Amino acid sequence: MNNCIFCNQELNYEKISTEHIIPRCMGGKLKSKLIICRKCNSKFGTEFDESLIKRFMLILHPIRLFNKKLKIKDVIVELNGRKYLLTEKGIKLKDPTPATGSGGFLDMIFPSEKSLETHLQRMKRKDPTIDIQATIDNSKTEIVEIKEPFTFIIENINDKVYRCCGKIVYEFLYHRKEDYQPSDDFFTRFVMGDLESSNFPVCVWYSEYAPIEKGEDSIYHIIVIEGRKESKILVGYLRVFNCLDTLLILDRDYKGPSFIEGYYQDLLNDTQGYFTPLKNVQLSSENIKNLIDNFDPLEVMEDYGKRIFHVLDMSRLLPIKKELEILAEILQSKFESSEIELSKYTYENLILILDRYGLYIALKDSLDKVLEDYEDFSFLIKIEKIFSYLLHYFARKMISIEAIQKIIKMVFNYK
Ligand SMILES: [Zn+2]
Repeated sequence: MNNCIFCNQELNYEKISTEHIIPRCMGGKLKSKLIICRKCNSKFGTEFDESLIKRFMLILHPIRLFNKKLKIKDVIVELNGRKYLLTEKGIKLKDPTPATGSGGFLDMIFPSEKSLETHLQRMKRKDPTIDIQATIDNSKTEIVEIKEPFTFIIENINDKVYRCCGKIVYEFLYHRKEDYQPSDDFFTRFVMGDLESSNFPVCVWYSEYAPIEKGEDSIYHIIVIEGRKESKILVGYLRVFNCLDTLLILDRDYKGPSFIEGYYQDLLNDTQGYFTPLKNVQLSSENIKNLIDNFDPLEVMEDYGKRIFHVLDMSRLLPIKKELEILAEILQSKFESSEIELSKYTYENLILILDRYGLYIALKDSLDKVLEDYEDFSFLIKIEKIFSYLLHYFARKMISIEAIQKIIKMVFNYK
């Protein structure tokens, strides 16, 4: 029977707990049952999850619209005083929201008629004179469009993020090396929050290292652990959502054999697996120590900010690229359809894709302006407008999408 790696309590069947090594709120799928006790599991859950959700949900949300196997709880975000719910079907208005009406009166905006009805039923208990149906009939129906993009606040990389990175890598170490014996309790104390921040064995910006071919084709989580017998050091590397490249000293007096081992999770394509990294972390123990000692969180904020905005764009563009590839394949099989059927089908599906990823609003006005005198022709103009918008967006991130050329060929060369 093992002991909990953090509090050292013996893990019997009552105390055992399935732990997500990479937290579920980050889309993590790697699990283990033999590492930590139920108490530590729930302590980390309450301590880390909220801070992580806030940081990463806007990256994860569009990815899960494509990868339906990522089971993530719906999350509430606030924008201009209104609350929205990010669900696996898209973005919805959440809860009644007060808004000042035209005469200075306070209106309540409800996400649905059902939610207004529930609210009125509750009110009726206090005030029986309320006529529920009449109030519903007299209320205005207004479609609320989310006109602005969600504001993504880059928060400082704080202690919780450092420690959560530590927790992930340390659990991965025990998951792979069951017989590992730490030389002291330094790293455990760091994860548990019992260490001065000036002593943290972590550097959250180590972007020079690439354990796999640096592909921009998906969004990954990557963990690498490396033990070195001759220099007696055990280090870890963690890459979260293609950013936050983190280097950690897991053991400063490592006594075991040399090894290197990696794990990756491809969030978009829903694949995961262990791998042998292309190269070693490649730093001497002294260099690693210097890197960590001289690491200044404020200095890296700018780089981190740029990187995270880039990932935010990629997390929308990569799923759209995949959706377009699927659409191109379906169109290929519809070769027998008539010209108008083909262009109508293409247009309707493009709108579904744009809407799901929150891009339809940007195009709605210009699409509405297209005259519909000649139905088949108007579909083609609309498709052209959508593609020129997408090509522009993709070009900014230097992503090529052959699927668009394929679709254009099929829809336009048909004539
Ligand atoms: Zn424990």
